[in-house]
Amino acid sequence: MKRNRKVKILATLGPASSEESMIEKLHQAGADVFRINMSHASHDMMRMLIQRIRSVEARSGRPIGILADLQGPKLRVGKFVDGKVDLRPGQTFTLDNNEALGDQSRVYLPHPEILESVQPGHRLLIDDGKLALRAEKCDGKSIVTTVISGTRISDRKGVSLPDTLLGVGALTDKDRADLDAVLATDDVDWVALSFVQRPDDLAEVRKIARGRVGLMSKIEKPQALERIEEIIELSDALMVARGDLGVEMPLESVPGIQKQLIRACRRSGKPVVVATQMLESMISAPVPTRAEVSDVATAVFEGADAVMLSAESASGDYPVEAVTTMASIATAIEREPHYPGIIYAQRAQPEATGADAISLAARQIAETLKLSAIVCYTSSGTTGLRASRERPQVPILALSPIIKTARRLAVVWGLHCVVTHDATDLDDMVNRACRIVADEGFGKPGDRIIISAGVPLGTPGATNMIRIAYIGSDGQSGV
Ligand code: PGA
Ligand code: MN
Repeated sequence: MKRNRKVKILATLGPASSEESMIEKLHQAGADVFRINMSHASHDMMRMLIQRIRSVEARSGRPIGILADLQGPKLRVGKFVDGKVDLRPGQTFTLDNNEALGDQSRVYLPHPEILESVQPGHRLLIDDGKLALRAEKCDGKSIVTTVISGTRISDRKGVSLPDTLLGVGALTDKDRADLDAVLATDDVDWVALSFVQRPDDLAEVRKIARGRVGLMSKIEKPQALERIEEIIELSDALMVARGDLGVEMPLESVPGIQKQLIRACRRSGKPVVVATQMLESMISAPVPTRAEVSDVATAVFEGADAVMLSAESASGDYPVEAVTTMASIATAIEREPHYPGIIYAQRAQPEATGADAISLAARQIAETLKLSAIVCYTSSGTTGLRASRERPQVPILALSPIIKTARRLAVVWGLHCVVTHDATDLDDMVNRACRIVADEGFGKPGDRIIISAGVPLGTPGATNMIRIAYIGSDGQSGV
């Protein structure tokens, strides 16, 4: 199966898409990576979804990426005597450490560390910002607030603290248990960390993960933006988590932040995913709004590695249509005459390494000679990432002997990953590349391709040669 687009599609699985037949339909419609949301999935459900994804993968013959998304420190208030109360702007309302059911004047906040971190003047946004409170008096055990706007507060509603640097790490006890279960499967390619605030949040997870999964930092806290370069450095990928970001920051700042994050990731060659509400209306309608089509198009024009579906594929009425729509938008935008120019305007300069110099040369040669494909041999995935960073118009085939590398690269812009043995010698390397390009439908006899590899073969991180080759009539290398 060959996709005719560069940007990748991530689809979240949920009640509307947990059956194997539905996962298969979503994959065929264009989903390259599946997200399992650990806020909702039990460990049994997670293992079952993984097994179903892997059987779909085995039938399709294409490597599929699996992302497990950890809930992170998502804060919630306790419950009320009557399930809810209505407040009025200007009144006093207290959040405290008393487990008793809430009423008109107070509610339990089951997060002692938050009671200690909030300072007078900080905002508390309840229920995605529908109710805004301002802290007036804080004694470590309770926060006395004034209601700024909104009225309704009800059981277990979420609390966002845009002004507070939380004294907690990005991993809660639940996250730790979920992460252990994820790693124990040895079958998950990416773990997403929610509400990352500082570089230290990643250090702890790195230690536990020991390279067994890629780490994707979800950027949804203003504090993360203050140290974004260090966070990118310590992450393997980023998610522009616009849902919570839009609660914690003014909504109108989200598009600019999206641009900033995509540019920073493209510079460092780390994959970046744009997430949340991309086709929101398709939760309950078979067609998107014009504004949503434009939003997906913007992410594609910006050169994001992937666009994500949340409730649209997890719990909506039209999961397959949502993936199909996303794929058609991506394909159409990438064929726009303005697309190459817009993508190139943000192309990052090569770093002074062999891999970057060769990726740049391979792109220039491929575009100058109108070659059919760029083929790179990549065992760790690094060469694949650097080839993608060039954002060439020519298809890139990333050949790896390691299935886990191919799956992890499924999220990366423009890479068509194929698992194949390491070549035995130079001739085998060239022949194998030509044969795979022909077999996968990217070229035909008489076409030329460009191959990059590290010689001696199989040494990671040593890309040091490029070679132009003809596809012969037997599908192997011709002369
Ligand atoms: P969530 O993350 O769906 O797990 O909240 C994405 C976002 O906040 O945009
Ligand atoms: Mn979020």
